[in-house]
Amino acid sequence: MMPSQELILGLSLEELKLKFLKNGFTSLDAKRVFPWIHMKLAKSFDVMSDVPKCVRETLPDFFSIVRPECKTKQKSLDGTQKVLLEFSDGECVETVFIPDEKRNTICISTQIGCIIGCKFCHTGTQKFSRNLTSSEIMSQMFFWKDIQNESNGSSITNIVFMGMGEPLLNSKNLFNALNLLLDEKIHNFSRNKITVSTSGIVNGSIEKLAKFGVKLAISLHASSDEKRAFLMPINKKYNISNVLNAARKYLYFSNVDYVTFEYLLLSGVNDSDNDAIELAYLLKNFGIQCKVNLILFNDWFGTEFRASSKGHTFLRILLSKGIRTIIRKSRGDDIFAACGQLKSERQ
Ligand code: SF4
Repeated sequence: MMPSQELILGLSLEELKLKFLKNGFTSLDAKRVFPWIHMKLAKSFDVMSDVPKCVRETLPDFFSIVRPECKTKQKSLDGTQKVLLEFSDGECVETVFIPDEKRNTICISTQIGCIIGCKFCHTGTQKFSRNLTSSEIMSQMFFWKDIQNESNGSSITNIVFMGMGEPLLNSKNLFNALNLLLDEKIHNFSRNKITVSTSGIVNGSIEKLAKFGVKLAISLHASSDEKRAFLMPINKKYNISNVLNAARKYLYFSNVDYVTFEYLLLSGVNDSDNDAIELAYLLKNFGIQCKVNLILFNDWFGTEFRASSKGHTFLRILLSKGIRTIIRKSRGDDIFAACGQLKSERQ
């Protein structure tokens, strides 16, 4: 992509019209180009047969619809695939495809690096570089859609914003992407097939996300502020009570049935019987409709943490206290594609 070319994979039709008008094209040109990008998954302007030839030939001087370059690709024994994608400025992100019996999920990144610095997370050790644009966010979905189409594979059914970065610190671009993904005339994903995961950014973004009605997953990982702040420094700014209140508001405004709380089990840190009892008490006391996802820690080089062996005991305690709980199956850990393992920094 030439430096003057702007990636337009994540623009709404209105934004596209404005960009086109600014560069000497017409609204009608934008109206014709838009479905080629989103519904027909065109990878070049040449194929857009109802766009006048002179327009097709000039568009590449200003705009680009090329996918980011795939620098590396890895496939796990369980079928999970992870790729490293490079954008035009040389920055890279990882994105993951997770096939299952009934669904194909893609995990999308929203930032290069992450500023939140959760102690247990490999991504958090990568210096934050920048937010992804809405086009760069969408380009990850286009990348996987192309692969599925080329291999006649089954289509993508679910999207989780759980890749690199904190989605709600890039909320404007996240929301632009969600608008395109949820629009029934464009990508037509169902609200309950999209999950946004957050470390608990309670600056109004959770409330704004509620209007999309997508599933919300909040990283809790501890039942006391002291322990959570040790694992997630963000807790010093937004503590457990702030986060639970935001979750309650989310339920009220979004009409979703429940919020998911992610709880990563770390040996000797937050996995005792007492931790489970306290967590159940906290959630019961708050009276919030929720589900707890217990996550088994995926090791990475240099971490001080170890995976817990007490998952089933922890699960039993929460269930016995009436808290809906599952142990989330880890996918792609042999290729470092599992939860908290993504990192794009060249090492
Ligand atoms: S868990 Fe999420 S928010 Fe925390 S450091 Fe990792 S990528 Fe950032």
